[in-house]
Amino acid sequence: MAKKSKNNKKPAAKVSVRDLLRVGPEFDLSAVDARRIVAGPKDKVQALAEVGALEGEVGDLQERLYAESRGGGKRRLLILLQGMDTSGKGGAIKAIDRISEPLGLRIAQFGAPTKAELKKHFLWRIEQKLPTPGTIGIFDRSHYEDVLVVRVRNLVPPEEWEKRYDEINAWEKKWADDGIVFLKCMLFISPEEQKERLLARLAEPDKHWKYRPGDVDDRLLWNDFMEAYRVALARCSTDHAPWYVIPADRKWHRDWLLTQLVAETLREMNPQYPPTAFDVAAEKARVQAS
Ligand code: ADP
Repeated sequence: MAKKSKNNKKPAAKVSVRDLLRVGPEFDLSAVDARRIVAGPKDKVQALAEVGALEGEVGDLQERLYAESRGGGKRRLLILLQGMDTSGKGGAIKAIDRISEPLGLRIAQFGAPTKAELKKHFLWRIEQKLPTPGTIGIFDRSHYEDVLVVRVRNLVPPEEWEKRYDEINAWEKKWADDGIVFLKCMLFISPEEQKERLLARLAEPDKHWKYRPGDVDDRLLWNDFMEAYRVALARCSTDHAPWYVIPADRKWHRDWLLTQLVAETLREMNPQYPPTAFDVAAEKARVQAS
């Protein structure tokens, strides 16, 4: 239980970060300001302290989720991360890792599909990596690439990608009904911030491995990518699998928002320990006699 604070200051009114960032029917991607602080602490030190403070609670909720699955529960959380290059998907994963138990995390990364994967339905390789009951999955990119980069770069004909939005919605519904709670997050950076981050990578030899010349080609198609994101978010933010857009130019604010989203979602899931399946008194007696 949280300790009572020594002073009598009232805690700041809690905003629901999910309500704040959720993509609804009125959502306008072009109106998002990637640098804006939309909630929570206004400075880095406080924000990171609040991220760290979630660790105990999230670890406890995670343990309950796992315990629930041992009792036959099927619920699991899937945190899906999308964003342009350098938007901070790796940093965001570190922030989630910081507040959770590594044993219960399953991280999957999706790059360009292999030849073998291309022969199958685009959702096939995604399905292989879904989290199992009781765990938390993190997707670094996802099936949304199949309506983002694939659409922008004409990797399949338009009639092919056009039908994927409905397919994705139906597929996510199927898995939501099976116990997956979706937390789909777009890390939204500005093109100016991306330029700085790319230049920073080039300035440091130790960061060259992170730089791909192809990143600049995608950057030149920025507006096309934003249009593809706009359509994907509008068409695939559903009640069973909503999208959230995280302003991500400030890394510490991105981490604060994301970890709040994770904590809020787990709190609402409110996982339950399964009922004890044995006679505790009898077992105590057996242990003592052994
Ligand atoms: P990251 O850039 O996320 O650090 P990589 O350097 O491995 O990771 O890049 C992944 C690349 O794979 C991205 O350019 C992305 O657009 C591409 N990719 C992911 N999924 C698909 C897909 N379904 N079809 C084509 N390209 C894809």
